[in-house]
Amino acid sequence: MNKYVKSVIENVKKKHANEPEFCQTVEEVLSSISPIVDKHPEYEKVDLLNRLVEPERMFTFRVAWMDDKGQWHTNTGYRCQFNGAIGPYKGGLRFQPNVYPGIIKFLGFEQIFKNSLTGLPIGGGKGGADFDPAGKSDAEIMRFCQAYMQELYKYIGPDVDVPAGDMGVGGREIGYLFGEWRKLKSTWQNGVLTGKGFPYGGSLNRPEATGYGAVYYLQEVLKHDKKNIKGTTIAISGFGNVAWGICKKAKELGAKVVTLSGPDGYIYDPNGVSTDEKVDYLLTMRASGRNKVKDYADKFKGVKFYPNQKPWGVKADVIMPAAMQNDVKMESAKLIVKNKIKYYVEVANMPTTNDALQYLMKSGLTVAPSKAVNAGGVSVSALEMSQNSERLIWTAEEVDKQLHHIMVNIYNNSVAAAKKYGFGYNLVAGANLAGFQKVADAMMAQGVF
Ligand code: GLU
Repeated sequence: MNKYVKSVIENVKKKHANEPEFCQTVEEVLSSISPIVDKHPEYEKVDLLNRLVEPERMFTFRVAWMDDKGQWHTNTGYRCQFNGAIGPYKGGLRFQPNVYPGIIKFLGFEQIFKNSLTGLPIGGGKGGADFDPAGKSDAEIMRFCQAYMQELYKYIGPDVDVPAGDMGVGGREIGYLFGEWRKLKSTWQNGVLTGKGFPYGGSLNRPEATGYGAVYYLQEVLKHDKKNIKGTTIAISGFGNVAWGICKKAKELGAKVVTLSGPDGYIYDPNGVSTDEKVDYLLTMRASGRNKVKDYADKFKGVKFYPNQKPWGVKADVIMPAAMQNDVKMESAKLIVKNKIKYYVEVANMPTTNDALQYLMKSGLTVAPSKAVNAGGVSVSALEMSQNSERLIWTAEEVDKQLHHIMVNIYNNSVAAAKKYGFGYNLVAGANLAGFQKVADAMMAQGVF
């Protein structure tokens, strides 16, 4: 590995020893871009990489809110504006009790390269709070979102930083956040958030976009091996918005999603989540706030529930982890290899530990990285920004067409970049190389700061 790259990784590991997720993504990205750095000795002179791993700025703020009993609570809110070299900071907000600076930085760092891959002018950012939405009433969620925006509004704007949803932040939360923005600013200002509801500036197909994009990417992976997606069986984790989009598009294209998972375990549906009723039921389960995937097995015949287990031991053609970071560790990777699965397509941000990812690749699986596969979500967010600034509404077909085009480009650019730098057919290295090159060029052009 390039000496400068190595020193930056070591530097991050030392400096951020208490933020393992951030160290993990830095190591993953930087180790694959080493051949680019070999070709550009000028990067070291301007310390490009140490600047790349340092957020341009990051905010931490207090969020105080009242529950339905009149009790006050205090949480920590974050927004990290990681890299704005290619466009306004763009990235979601995550509300989850495990949120701390290491999670926000890992997601923000990933977002830089993901957003670059989309080919659209968006920089990398991320935010969130250590707030647990589970079991909260609608009024409590509203009060939390309002209190959160009372601080966040100072740092965002349509040409500055455009937040969206992530885990724990869906259409409802974006609505409350946007309402508070309007209350505080008395301006529409081109929408300012993405993932808005359709009646007030949201884009058609934004809720579906991440899942649809992932399936479009999978189609390209299969095409490479002269395979058709029709009849393909897919094992996924999660049952949230992303899983829903995957099931919906897979069903349309004749593929079968046979597993879903939640904090309580996983379900196996041999017939697949392949009727409208089943796909819609995912939305019902999510809206119920129960956070239990067992409900699916109780509702539909022939479905088995496996308590407290992950779905990585099942036989399927494709594995798509679509729940959360570090969901697939070494022991699960071993099961996947033992089951002779050929395709491992990450969907959630960093769902695989670095050792498990290396092991899957060395074992001959085709591995696709999340920053490419899940880029459809943020891509349609960028399309929402375009529609808002043009005061236009595109049809669902138009948005879908553009999304499809973007996903095919991401796949092709990744394949080409990996080939150019001698990695062969390596989608993981390819995504990092292609994503990095554009950001590095933009940073070089803009001078040192
Ligand atoms: N949170 C999503 C992601 O990880 C979407 C971000 C956005 O739409 O800005 O990319």
